[in-house]
Amino acid sequence: MSDPKQIKVVLDEAEMPTHWYNIVADLPTPPPPPLHPGTKQPLTPDDLAPLFPMGLIAQEASTERWIEIPQEVHDIYRLWRPSPFFRARRLEQAIGSTARIYYKYEGASPVGSHKTNSAVPQAYFNKLEGRTRLTTETGAGQWGSALAFAAQIFGLQCDIWQVRSSYEGKPYRHVLMETFGAHVVASPSELTQAGRALREQFPDTTGSLGMAISEAVEAAATDPNAAYSLGSVLNHVLLHQTVIGQEAVKQLAMFDEASADYVFGCAGGGSNFGGLAFPFLRENLEGRAAARIVACEPKAAPSMTEGEYRYDFGDTAGLTPLLKMYSLGSDFVPAPVHAGGLRYHGMAPLVSHCYAEGLVDAIAVPQLEAFEAGVLFARAEGIVPASESNHAIAGALRQARAATETGESPVIVIGVSGSGQLDLPAYSEFLAGEMVDG
Ligand SMILES: *Cc1c(COP(=O)(O)O)cnc(C)c1O
Repeated sequence: MSDPKQIKVVLDEAEMPTHWYNIVADLPTPPPPPLHPGTKQPLTPDDLAPLFPMGLIAQEASTERWIEIPQEVHDIYRLWRPSPFFRARRLEQAIGSTARIYYKYEGASPVGSHKTNSAVPQAYFNKLEGRTRLTTETGAGQWGSALAFAAQIFGLQCDIWQVRSSYEGKPYRHVLMETFGAHVVASPSELTQAGRALREQFPDTTGSLGMAISEAVEAAATDPNAAYSLGSVLNHVLLHQTVIGQEAVKQLAMFDEASADYVFGCAGGGSNFGGLAFPFLRENLEGRAAARIVACEPKAAPSMTEGEYRYDFGDTAGLTPLLKMYSLGSDFVPAPVHAGGLRYHGMAPLVSHCYAEGLVDAIAVPQLEAFEAGVLFARAEGIVPASESNHAIAGALRQARAATETGESPVIVIGVSGSGQLDLPAYSEFLAGEMVDG
């Protein structure tokens, strides 16, 4: 038995993952391929070459189980990895839980979220192949600040299109990106053809991730020195995030737990969820566990629970490849809820495939329930979670309360994808009783 008071495990740097884990190698059926938007044929590496470096394109299509993390990337990961893993004893006490609740915390990275796990290798592979400029979109700003940080490390220029509602509603976010040396504009902007067309068509739009992606893709496609970086959705992004789940599986074992019974992660585009979930799913697929793995999406953008599983564009203008995913439609503009990182119309093809195959589950969480959970968590654990992460905590609390009613004591693992220190305006609105269910 573990120490009954233990609340945290410290993983040695030497035990950090040396490889990313590619779930594709272990899936019972292969995920449907991305299609060329013009020909509707499966995409070739050459189709992607204008936008991405070959190193990342190879990862995108890889069926290898383990992909080595380059030493340079590993060295930078060490700035914040291994990330901590806690038993949430005070949260358990606060709700009188019979469940054992654990959480993996990604908020201690340089920008306060899991996004640096992919930003760093993306900048690295671009630098390796001689690109000098990265373009991207960002919602609430976490991805933008992660890429700004990574681009800065490798000496790359970084141009960021930020969803207008977030640019205006969260002014400190663009200051953070600018501090790391990036250039940030509100999207839709006047700088791209896509942006100008969207502004003409929807003069009052608050923007969306889909629109910002169109702008960043166009900017990269029209500059041979530039590449486009995406913070979620694509296979290589989820791949990079598997450092989270690999560490968490080890750390749970260090608490003398045989396996997880439930794993909850929040899901916008699906990267932190995939990164946490896939190593746990591997435990399931290899017969060592039978965990129910649950993606928690916001009620305001419920792509899995209410969307359709079909080929759709990743952006609004239809410039990206067609991806088979649960989607609300690429022109869907979600209500401007605070969890900006979850306001996306689609779900990562790998997560979508796993959901369609019944390997993972999904629930939708309303904004107020998410913030109730986040405040309870903050008061018990001393960490203010990101607005997005609150959805995972709320999902876990539903489960913990249900277990307590029936007297069961399952092992619940929560992915806390980020810190909420920059989300305090949202907490302020919640605490003042002014938050609405978006
Ligand atoms: C971006 C972000 C998310 C949502 O993105 P995913 O790709 O679904 O992980 C969730 N939590 C935090 C803290 C984020 O920054």
